[in-house]
Amino acid sequence: MADFIPVYEPVLGGNEKKYVLDCLDTGWISSLGKYVTDFENKFSAFSGKKFGVSVANGTVALQLALIALDIKKGDEVIIPDLTFVATANAVSYTGAKPVFVDSERETWNMDPSRIEEKITSKTRAIMPVHLFGHPCDMDPIMDIAKDHDLFVIEDAAEAHGAEYKGKKAGSFGHVSCFSFYGNKTITTGEGGMCITSDGDLAKEMSFLKDHGMSSEKRYYHTKIGFNLRLTNIQAAIGLAQLEQIEKFIDIKRKNALFYNSLLKDIEGVSLPPEMPWAKNTYWMYSILLRDREARDRMMSVLKEEKIDSRPFFFPMHQLPMYKLEKPFPVSDDLSARGMNLPSAPSLSKEDVERICGVIKNSQV
Ligand SMILES: *Cc1c(COP(=O)(O)O)cnc(C)c1O
Repeated sequence: MADFIPVYEPVLGGNEKKYVLDCLDTGWISSLGKYVTDFENKFSAFSGKKFGVSVANGTVALQLALIALDIKKGDEVIIPDLTFVATANAVSYTGAKPVFVDSERETWNMDPSRIEEKITSKTRAIMPVHLFGHPCDMDPIMDIAKDHDLFVIEDAAEAHGAEYKGKKAGSFGHVSCFSFYGNKTITTGEGGMCITSDGDLAKEMSFLKDHGMSSEKRYYHTKIGFNLRLTNIQAAIGLAQLEQIEKFIDIKRKNALFYNSLLKDIEGVSLPPEMPWAKNTYWMYSILLRDREARDRMMSVLKEEKIDSRPFFFPMHQLPMYKLEKPFPVSDDLSARGMNLPSAPSLSKEDVERICGVIKNSQV
């Protein structure tokens, strides 16, 4: 019997164990410790910003960035309609309203040409999401933000190491947010980080994530802060993962190209985007089928063959708490037809061959 192929799994074959044992041996298991600082410094440098503020997960990274920029009730934040729900929820937690923009057919990301029509006197920020590892078209987004005096907060939770015109995803926004959940390109189990080159903003985020305590006077708190800290043990895993990130991305890109070569001539299968200006890191290798029925049937055929897959996210406007009756034609269409195939860095060439063989023979 062929082995089960998961849609994702972490690969922990580097210094993870060594660094975690160092935490245990030295007693530095909580949120102070050298791995926290080291991971913050090295990850922010890798992603093109000066400062890193580590947090407990990617969702609170988004929330912290918004709060530190004083985004609150009465404000609006523009996000893509097609994203993971955490993007919208993080905006909601602050009391602000997420405003959805339809996707762009070519990149599956927020359509820059549809942003301006959503801007009102209440709009404070644009939060582009680099979906599945393909960067957004950042030039027009940054231009619009500049013209309308808006903040840009990149949700780069799926795009560690991805590039737009040779610059890293996460290097564009006033703040950029990453997730290190177990299935992300690098992981700390649970974890996240806000990165920025604005020293005051980094300070504000560090202050807010640690109970809003004055740096001069212990137990003197000047704002209602939070406890959003990452532990030294998690950062130890993160640092070991970061040492391997180029290798992971390289494997994921090679596997994606191999998938492409085997799937390109199959009727009814569309391949994932990679624009000429983009380096897609293929967090998830994703395809589109003919319609929802074909997608659902393909997922069950793969399941019978012990191959795991995932449907695309539901667009935000289809969820009960964000319900809007008007159509978002592109995100509705992508969401109905899209699926993620196994994409872990542990995926072998033989696995990809087996998966594509099943897809080819399934005639859905
Ligand atoms: C994973 C993810 C998040 C949230 O990250 P967690 O660490 O799971 O909280 C946010 N946005 C997007 C686009 C994601 O994929």
